[in-house]
Amino acid sequence: KHLWGVPETSGHLRGEGVRNRTQIGREKASLVMLVRNREQKDALMAMKNIEERFNQNYRYPWTFLNDEPFSDDFKVQTSRIASGEVKYGLIPHNEWSVPDFIDTDKFHEKLKEFEAKKILYGGSESYRHMCRYNSGFFFESDLLKDYDWYWRVEPSTGFYCDQLYDPFTFMRENNKRYSFVMTLYEYRSTIETLWQATREFVKEHPDYVADDNSAGFIVDGYSGKHSLQSKDFNLCHFWSNFEIADLNLWRSKEYREYFDYLDKKGGFFYERWGDAPVHSIAAALFLKKDQIHFWHDMGYRHPPYERCPTDEESHDSVRCMCPFDKAKSFDFDGYSCQKRWWKFHGQNDEGKPIPKYK
Ligand code: GDP
Ligand code: MN
Repeated sequence: KHLWGVPETSGHLRGEGVRNRTQIGREKASLVMLVRNREQKDALMAMKNIEERFNQNYRYPWTFLNDEPFSDDFKVQTSRIASGEVKYGLIPHNEWSVPDFIDTDKFHEKLKEFEAKKILYGGSESYRHMCRYNSGFFFESDLLKDYDWYWRVEPSTGFYCDQLYDPFTFMRENNKRYSFVMTLYEYRSTIETLWQATREFVKEHPDYVADDNSAGFIVDGYSGKHSLQSKDFNLCHFWSNFEIADLNLWRSKEYREYFDYLDKKGGFFYERWGDAPVHSIAAALFLKKDQIHFWHDMGYRHPPYERCPTDEESHDSVRCMCPFDKAKSFDFDGYSCQKRWWKFHGQNDEGKPIPKYK
C-alpha cells in the first residue's frame, strides 16, 4: 500500500527520519527548539527550511524542549523531517514556575500594570517563564549535557541562503563564543531596572568584565569599566531567537552568578526581562570583542524582520536569491543596531572596512 507514493513500510512514515542518522558534522552540537505542541506546523516549516539549507549535509541532532509533554504527533512529524537524531525533553517544574522568593501579589499587580500599558507580552506569565528559562536554564538540560554548541531555532523562522560550511566548526576554530544575525533596540519599558542590576553586579565583580569587551556597542560613551556605573544601556541587543553559541559560556561561573543575581532581583517577573538583553549584556561584557560573531553571510527571517547578505556574490546568487531588495534588509532599518555594530568594529554603514586614507 502506498500513501502519496511513499511505501507505508518506509521509515519515513514510521517517523524514523528520511536518512540514516549517523552524524556527519564533526562538532558536539545540537539544534535546539523550545516549542509548544500547538506551534507544530510552524516548527515543521522552520525545521524543513534549516534541514534543506544546512543540516541535511551534517545531520546534527535536534533537541526539542517543552514545559508540557510533546504530543505523539509532534514527535512523529518532527522526526520525519530531522536528518539527525531527535530528543524530546520535559522542562523541570522548578525551571518553569514562580520561585518562592517572588512576591506573588506584587507579581500579579505588575502583570495587570504591564497589560494595561500595552507592553508586548506584558500581561503574559508564560512569556516570562520562557524568557527566564532561556536566560538561566536551557543550557543545563540533561539532553544537552554532551554538547558544547547549540543553534537556537524558533518556529516560523527561516533562512534564505544555503549554509555551505559548518558554523559550529567556524565558531570553534575562530575562538567565537556567541553569534547573531540581527541586532535591534529593546523596549525600555520591559527592562527598566535591568541595567541598574547589572551595574551592581559588575561593581561587585569587576574582574568578570573582559578588558577588551563589547561594552562600547551597548553603552554610548563607554570609556572603561568604571564608566558602566554612570553611562546608560543604549538598548542595543542581539535578537536571540537566532543564536549559535557556546553552551559553556552560559555554564560559566561568571554567567551563572550573573543570572542568579538578576533572578533574585525579580525582574523576570516584576518587569518582563527578555533573554535577549540578558544574553547580550553578558556576552558584551564578559567576552572579548572578537569572540562575538556577526553572520554577514546568512539570510534570516523572524517575523516581522528579515535580512540578507548584501554583497554581490550572495544577494542575487543561487546560494541565496533573496526575495527582497537589498535596501529592505533589516540591517538598514532605523530600528536596527547593525550600523552601530559596524561602527564599533571600524566598518562603514554597509559593513565594509572604513578606508584609512580618503
Ligand atoms: P517572540 O519571538 O518574542 O515573539 O516569542 P515567541 O512566541 O516566538 O516565543 C519564543 C520561543 O519560545 C519560541 O520558540 C516559542 O515556541 C517558545 N515559547 C514561548 N512560550 C512558550 C511556552 O509557554 N511553552 C513552550 N514550550 N515554549 C514557548
Ligand atoms: Mn519568536
